[in-house]
Amino acid sequence: MPIRLLPPELVAKIAAGEVVERPASVVKELLENSLDAGARYVHMDIRGGGRQEIRVVDDGCGIPAEEVALAVQRHATSKIASAADLYRIRTLGFRGEALASIAAVSHLTLVSRPAGQEVGMEVRVEGGRTLGITPRPCTVGTIVLVRDLFYNTPVRLKFLRQPRTEAGYIHTLVTDYALAHPDVAFHLLSDGRVALHTSGSGGLRDALIEIYGLETAQQMIPVEKALGEGEMRVRVFGYIGQPTLSRATRRAITLFVNGRRIRDPGLTYAVEEAYRTLLTSDRHPVAIIGIEVDPAAVDVNVHPTKSEVKFAYADQVFAAVQRAVREVLQEHVAVPRITAVRAESPREERERGRPATRPLPLPRLGGPLFEEEEEVPPEEKGLPPLRVLGQMAGTYILAEGPDGLYLIDQHAAHERILYEQLAAERERLSIRTQTLLEPLIVELTPQQQALLGERLEELQKWGFEMEPFGERAYRVRSVPAILTRGDVRTRVAALVEEWSEGLRKGLSWEEQLLITIACHSAVRAGQSLSPEEMRELVQMLERTRMPRTCPHGRPTMILLTCQQLQREFGRR
Ligand code: ADP
Ligand code: MG
Repeated sequence: MPIRLLPPELVAKIAAGEVVERPASVVKELLENSLDAGARYVHMDIRGGGRQEIRVVDDGCGIPAEEVALAVQRHATSKIASAADLYRIRTLGFRGEALASIAAVSHLTLVSRPAGQEVGMEVRVEGGRTLGITPRPCTVGTIVLVRDLFYNTPVRLKFLRQPRTEAGYIHTLVTDYALAHPDVAFHLLSDGRVALHTSGSGGLRDALIEIYGLETAQQMIPVEKALGEGEMRVRVFGYIGQPTLSRATRRAITLFVNGRRIRDPGLTYAVEEAYRTLLTSDRHPVAIIGIEVDPAAVDVNVHPTKSEVKFAYADQVFAAVQRAVREVLQEHVAVPRITAVRAESPREERERGRPATRPLPLPRLGGPLFEEEEEVPPEEKGLPPLRVLGQMAGTYILAEGPDGLYLIDQHAAHERILYEQLAAERERLSIRTQTLLEPLIVELTPQQQALLGERLEELQKWGFEMEPFGERAYRVRSVPAILTRGDVRTRVAALVEEWSEGLRKGLSWEEQLLITIACHSAVRAGQSLSPEEMRELVQMLERTRMPRTCPHGRPTMILLTCQQLQREFGRR
């Protein structure tokens, strides 16, 4: 085939492929246009997951009659005029591509009326061809109607999911925008049913309640932090969930930069990092994080859908996000409290026709018997002074605090203490080591050997001095001092095994090593402790930064409050 210029309609279709991937992409572009137009109200009505029909109505500034035809042309925009503008973008759109791209692969009708114009103007486009422009009465603002999306691109159509799934994508998208713009009222209808409704009152807290419900919103803590000056200034704000609000996927971490929803694996990781040791490795936090930077310090023109951005000071942004989240967590994460005391399973209860809660017998420790309470009074943020009462089942330390009875898991608590001690020593490069009187020989599997062999030098900084010994084994001359209580031989072998296993969970090898050492050095459950030892342990726990969870993310303590006891004893 000879080389030739492609007809404009084909060019438009190719370009549309980049911007319009699925119905949710259409909603995103139209929604962003409404926000750019200064709308206070955006109403969206979708049918068949958006494939059949998407209607977006706003009360924004509208488009003047003489520009309506231009709006649906490619590279037509009112948002930038020169190359210089490209580097100080304050609007969500700027490429002048969206309407034209959508119109190239659907039947599009746009009606718009700015304030001060008598009547609205309607333009209809079909598969990229403008059919006509006619006056049409309407209120001030813009209505865009997109029908039969992908009717002329059968391959795209084939890749779409079930309407319900596509509607789900749209719902997630609109939810994110509603959170990023709490001052705008968002309505989303899907096949005539209300899927989302926010009032646009302006408060993020209100939006959270409207979107997630009161119960979830109550488990979210505000974040606010600014770092740096001038062009390097980063402001981080939003809400993050208590660790009790974790999810099975990372999708509940929502990021915005200057009001634009973005994807950024690095920043998502920064949020997750801040929760490290507060959540078990298979759980992920819920967070809505807004980031504000100088528009000149962020390049939004990296990707056709503008969902990825490049920061001029990426490290600064990463640090600000991580610190903002971490600091709030340190302040707010509370001791789980026993809220319901139940002696038997609900089924047993029902069979005997008794109510699910009753005063006796005394609570036993254990998972499903207890539920965690959502709201935490501020006085519980720090650990109060605790008076040790005794040990129970060789595993739990009972202690009295001003607000009730604390049940402390001795192993988990000690793990937390050692974890923080060792981390601090490692940071100062001052891990105390113990030279073994008699070198230890440990045998390794080939995988373990590969793992260790690469890191002999670095392991020395951790206090492990070792060298290859024959085919499969290593000779260990010294270990971190905290490991030497008890039987070193079995500990080192078990440690290597667990460490290499744990590495599959996605933590860094040093983090995993730290957790494993802390776990292996900590007192075990079932080990009896003297009152003196218990007091020391509780005091050390009070001094840790995160006393309430062990490094694996499990709780170190449970609180039974005085009020609960009163209630259970019928004193109130
Ligand atoms: P971009 O948003 O990148 O400028 P679009 O193709 O999305 O490109 O829109 C083209 C132009 O149409 C915009 O620059 C804007 O002037 C106008 N426009 C589109 N949607 C609206 C709307 N809802 N309200 C007011 N003006 C709009
Ligand atoms: Mg746009």
